Amino acid sequence: MPTDPSPPQISLPQVDYLLTDATVYDGLGTAAVRADIAVLGDTIAAIGTNLVLHYHAGMVIDASGLAASPGFIDIHTHSDLSVLVTPLFDSSIHQGVTTEVSGNCGMAAGAMTSSGDFAFERRWLERSGVTLSWDTFGGFLDRVEQEGTAINICSLVGHGTLRKLAKGSTEGKADAGEIAIMQRAVADAMASGAVGLSTGLEYLPGGYADLDEIAPLAQIAHEAGGFYASHIRNEGDTLIESVTEAIAVGRQTHIPVQVSHLKAEGHKNWGKVRAALGLMADARADGFDVLTDQYPYAAFMTGLSVILLPKWALAGTPDDIARRMVSTTDRDKIRSEILADPLDWTKVQVGIARVRREAQGLTLEQLGALDGKHPVDSALDLLRDERGWVSAVHFALSDEDIETVLRDPHTMIGSDGVAASPTGAMGDDKTHPRSYGAFPRVLGAYVRDRSVLSLSDAIRRMTSLPASRLGLIDRGRLAPGMKADITLFRPETVADTATFDNPQQFASGIEYVFVNGRLALSGGVQRDIRPGRVLRRRGGTVI
Ligand SMILES: [Zn+2]
Repeated sequence: MPTDPSPPQISLPQVDYLLTDATVYDGLGTAAVRADIAVLGDTIAAIGTNLVLHYHAGMVIDASGLAASPGFIDIHTHSDLSVLVTPLFDSSIHQGVTTEVSGNCGMAAGAMTSSGDFAFERRWLERSGVTLSWDTFGGFLDRVEQEGTAINICSLVGHGTLRKLAKGSTEGKADAGEIAIMQRAVADAMASGAVGLSTGLEYLPGGYADLDEIAPLAQIAHEAGGFYASHIRNEGDTLIESVTEAIAVGRQTHIPVQVSHLKAEGHKNWGKVRAALGLMADARADGFDVLTDQYPYAAFMTGLSVILLPKWALAGTPDDIARRMVSTTDRDKIRSEILADPLDWTKVQVGIARVRREAQGLTLEQLGALDGKHPVDSALDLLRDERGWVSAVHFALSDEDIETVLRDPHTMIGSDGVAASPTGAMGDDKTHPRSYGAFPRVLGAYVRDRSVLSLSDAIRRMTSLPASRLGLIDRGRLAPGMKADITLFRPETVADTATFDNPQQFASGIEYVFVNGRLALSGGVQRDIRPGRVLRRRGGTVI
């Protein structure tokens, strides 16, 4: 009697992870499919059904009930200011963000140097325990690479920072020689891997520049394959003119344009975002590449000085601003100009105040009551006490505008945040909740609760759309051969929990996050690893 042969010894190919029975969103906006995902090294090895029959996995994760998405790409952050302080990117990882674009709004840590021009910035970093050791953009990226990060990071080069190098903080047009210095600095940064050029024309000294200065710099960034991201000159009364100015840079140089954090500030300007989106659509119809990004909150955060003071009083360094709060002549002039067109003191809330922590989270009305003074006097005193450096949140945006901008298929999600950790050096800061909640808030409040957009389309705006903007060829999609940046979340519960009163709180519903094939968040708990990479532009692509 023949006996049954022993079953053949099939040796299955080995993978590191197998995510089974996930609801897979490819990032391109197509409908989800139920599938397994195999991860080997830093790469997605396979996506399909019953992969457990085809692979032997080091670890199997039951992903039933979870949405699998490409790791989110945050197109607009300022984490270059915190990457050396918060390299674990706790607030980002808990949102499912695996790549950030920093260096926005004209400010880029990589463009700073150890020279005296950046004494304020150096002091600011040193207070967080970071020594500014670099003199080139490439030197900054190397430093970040050496220290390691939990997520991938790339950076724009900031025009405002370069202008300080070329011209100090002085007013007026840059001359040909100064523009040439800035052009060389842009070329140098791009050669080191910068992904484009940013401006912050609402800020000084960047705001002294006009198109004659910006276009020649954008030209250099464009020739190196980068894009142009602009915090436009004004987001309120002259929003339309300011969007037109940003698009003009694209029309003149053909560089792809990213209008940063589109919004309309001030009740009388609400609704203007429709016309702004129309201008961008017109430019696209003319063949120009113009997109925008947004964070889904009805309040913005910036320097208290920017919200409060007349333009002339913003000139110079934060120390210069603080000095104007002491000089009787300047202070009286500032005070009377503010009171000629006063803010609603209940709508401005003190953000990060490191000297007077007790002021954090108070509205200017409440601060005035605490001090026993008129709110304007309290606010000017605070600027003095904080040496010009105190942020504030202004509830001046419209919920309807947020939905209008979010409905536009060309809008990406950009937190405008700074990577943070509740237990880190900045853990006591009353930061904007967007740093912790922008992405889950879109998925929870705007997709699930209000049906403003579909889940697959929201994921597209968080993944493949920013990847294509960046020229990031191997991220932003779930497909075999792509880098294994993967976010698994529960669509029924994903939500932001950070609030303006209690901002340093992690989002919920984000269960697993892979960065370059390594498990950085497991069961909602972050692991102490730094699998992120510094991504650099090389010609037309970013890798
Ligand atoms: Zn900005």
